[in-house]
Amino acid sequence: MPMFVDHSPAGECIFCKLVKGEIPSAKVYEDDLTIAFMDIGQATRGHVLVASKRHAVNLLELTPEEAGAVMQTAQRVAAGVNKAFDPDGINIFQANGAPAGQTVFHFHLHVLPRFEGDGLSVVWQREEPGFAVLGELAEKIKAEFA
Ligand code: AMP
Ligand code: ZN
Repeated sequence: MPMFVDHSPAGECIFCKLVKGEIPSAKVYEDDLTIAFMDIGQATRGHVLVASKRHAVNLLELTPEEAGAVMQTAQRVAAGVNKAFDPDGINIFQANGAPAGQTVFHFHLHVLPRFEGDGLSVVWQREEPGFAVLGELAEKIKAEFA
């Protein structure tokens, strides 16, 4: 399934409703472009979501201004979470597309306080193909920049 499919029928996006105050939320912060609120399903204690206020399906649909704003809000929230819960670490997690784990198709990132032994893990198998291959991969990406 392409990652650009908006799975939310028009007007039924759950985070758009949350932004408009049509459904309840435990809000942490908001400004013109972003909103932060407690994730309804706490992966760890203090798990916060930072979303764009405008309906954008994923990272690629954000404007550069929105992309900057969500990271600034993430930093602000992470600092608050750090003081409030004194975690051992913090992850920022952000999913684009169902195969990547996205379940709500309105841009958001997760601020996840981490605690020793919390059992949360992101696991992948490493491969080191060497700089010849890495260089080719880098060139493919660079060729797509405007
Ligand atoms: P993702 O899997 O990255 O798309 O994350 C979606 C997140 O949204 C999940 O962690 C859900 O628990 C969370 N979520 C879904 N509905 C709500 C809601 N109404 N209020 C707060 N969090 C929600
Ligand atoms: Zn939306």
